[in-house]
Amino acid sequence: MGCLALNASFEPLTIVPPHRAVRLVLDGKAEILEEEGSRRFRSERQVVPCPSVIRLVRYVHVPYRFRGQVTNTFLFARDDYTCQYCGKYRSALRGRQFLTRDHIVPLSRGGANSWENVVTSCSACNNRKADRLPHEAGLTLLTEPVEPNYVHLVWVVRTVTDPQAKYIRMFYGEAALDEVAGRR
Ligand SMILES: [Zn+2]
Repeated sequence: MGCLALNASFEPLTIVPPHRAVRLVLDGKAEILEEEGSRRFRSERQVVPCPSVIRLVRYVHVPYRFRGQVTNTFLFARDDYTCQYCGKYRSALRGRQFLTRDHIVPLSRGGANSWENVVTSCSACNNRKADRLPHEAGLTLLTEPVEPNYVHLVWVVRTVTDPQAKYIRMFYGEAALDEVAGRR
């Protein structure tokens, strides 16, 4: 289970691995708001509980690329686990097919690894497309990819625990969570 990292302003930023969260705490860069169970991390001089929510001591202006970092977990969730070319849902994939990240404009042709240039694609469609643009491969995108709302994704992929959800709710309000909870 990851640790929810909040900005000094309490804005939820991201989920980080516990050991990274502990590092920030040991370095005096973050404080622990919520602990998880009885697990402890030991350094040479300190014993630190396993954090489930930390808050950065100083406000950081988060660079856009960090905020919008593309991960397959969030990409597949954004696209509802559906190939954006053939429309097959994850569970409808046969044999050795699986979901992949497709760059609409291929990296080899100067495409970026940005939310606007990546879509979920089944391996069959991705192989067919190869280093081409969709229309060159006779493929059409089902939706226009956009940068997703981080909080919505976190909720959809259910990687937050109740104590973590509390802070997301605190910052974004109840309505944001309700709206997404009703989606599934
Ligand atoms: Zn497909």
